[in-house]
Amino acid sequence: MREQKENYILVGMAVLDLKRKLAILSDAAKYDASCASSGSVRRDSVGGKGVGSTDGGMGICHAYAPDGRCISLLKILLTNFCVYDCAYCVNRVSSNVPRARFAVDEVVDLTLGFYRRNYIEGLFLSSGIIRSPDYTMEEIVRVAKTLREVHDFRGYIHLKLIPEASPALVNEAGLYADRVSVNIELPKDESLASLAPEKDVVGIKKAMGAVRVSEDAAKDKGRKTRPPKFAPAGQSTQMIVGADAATDGAILKRSEGLYGAYGLRRVYYSAFSPIPDATARLPVKRAPLVREHRLYQADWLMRFYGFERAEILGEAEDLDLAVDPKLAWALRNRGEFPVDVNVADRERLLRVPGLGVRSVDRILDVRRFKRLELADVKRLTRGIEKLKPFLVTADWSPGALTDQEGLRERFAPEPRQLELF
Ligand code: SF4
Repeated sequence: MREQKENYILVGMAVLDLKRKLAILSDAAKYDASCASSGSVRRDSVGGKGVGSTDGGMGICHAYAPDGRCISLLKILLTNFCVYDCAYCVNRVSSNVPRARFAVDEVVDLTLGFYRRNYIEGLFLSSGIIRSPDYTMEEIVRVAKTLREVHDFRGYIHLKLIPEASPALVNEAGLYADRVSVNIELPKDESLASLAPEKDVVGIKKAMGAVRVSEDAAKDKGRKTRPPKFAPAGQSTQMIVGADAATDGAILKRSEGLYGAYGLRRVYYSAFSPIPDATARLPVKRAPLVREHRLYQADWLMRFYGFERAEILGEAEDLDLAVDPKLAWALRNRGEFPVDVNVADRERLLRVPGLGVRSVDRILDVRRFKRLELADVKRLTRGIEKLKPFLVTADWSPGALTDQEGLRERFAPEPRQLELF
C-alpha cells in the first residue's frame, strides 16, 4: 500500500515544472533550522579555477553564523515525500501536502545557476526518505559529488545525513560536504519513540558517533599519508522545542551530552509550530519564540561563558522567559557582585550581565593602559544601563543598587493583558 502510494506520487511528481518543484521543496525545507555555515575552510575560485567560493556573496535563504555573519544558501529538499510517519513533520507519509521530487541533475543545475547569478553562497540539502535510507543517502551524495567532481564547485555544502544509511555512505557524504547534520529531533528518547516510532535514537547517535570518528581521523596528524578532509565545518543537529513536555532543563541536558560525546559544532533549537491534520498528542499552539531564544542564550553560556547547566537553571526546571539567563543568574547570585572592571579576571567579567565575549576582550585590552571609568565602559560595550548594578569602575560604584529589591522589574518587560479573543 505504502509502496503503491509512493509510486503514484513519484509518477505525478515527474510532470511538475522546475519552478513549482522549487516552490514546494524550498517551502518544505524551511522547518530545518540547522543550516548556519560557520567554521568551514576557505575555498575559492580565484584564478579561474572551479566554480564558487565559501567567502562573501548574497542570496535566497539567510542563516546566521555564530560570528554574526549572514550567509545565503539554496535550502531545499531532494523530495518532500517520506516513507516515515513522524507525527511532528509536515512531510510525513500521512500528510496531505503537495509532493515534489528533484532529480539529482536538477539540484546540481539549480545550485550552479543560482551561484553564478550570485544569489547564493552554497547549498543546504535534506530529504524525506524514499525507498530506503541507503537509496536516499546515495541520491544526496550524488548531488554533492557531481557538484564537486564534475563542476569543481567550491561553494559551501551542508548535507543532511540519513541516520539509518550505511556508514560508507555517511563517510562519503563527509568527503564532499563542508558540514553534515543528523537531527536528534526531540529532547527525550520516550518522546521520539512515541512521536516518531520508525526513528531509532540509537541509530541517530551511532551516525553522530561515526561522523566524529571520521572527523578525528581526518585531523590525525600522525598519519604518514595526508588524510582526506572530512566535513571541515563539523556536524550540527536540531531539536524541536515544545512538541513534547520536556523542560528547558531536559533540553539543555541533552545538548550538553551531545556537545560532549560527539563534538557537535552546534545544536539548533526550533520552536514547534503546529502542522495541518496533526495528531491530538501534539500541542495546538506554537511554542513561544522567546523560549527558543532563551535556549540559544543558555546554550551560548555553557559553551563560551564557562557556565554549568545547573548554574543557569538554579532550582528551576525552565528558563525565565522575562530576562536573559545570565541576568537571571546574576539576580539570584547578587553576592558575586559588583565586579571591579579594572581588576577582575576574564572569567568573572564574562559573568557580568551585558558583557559579551567581545566587550570583555576589549576591556582587558584597554585597561592595560588606563583605569576605566563608566564612560569608557559605555564606549566599549553595547549599553551601560544593564551593567551599572553589577559593575565598579574608577568613578562608579552601584552601592545599594546591586541588592535593590525591585531590580528584576527594571529589566523585565511590563506584564501584558492576554487577548481574550
Ligand atoms: S523521516 Fe524526516 S522527513 Fe520523514 S517524516 Fe520523519 S522527520 Fe519528516
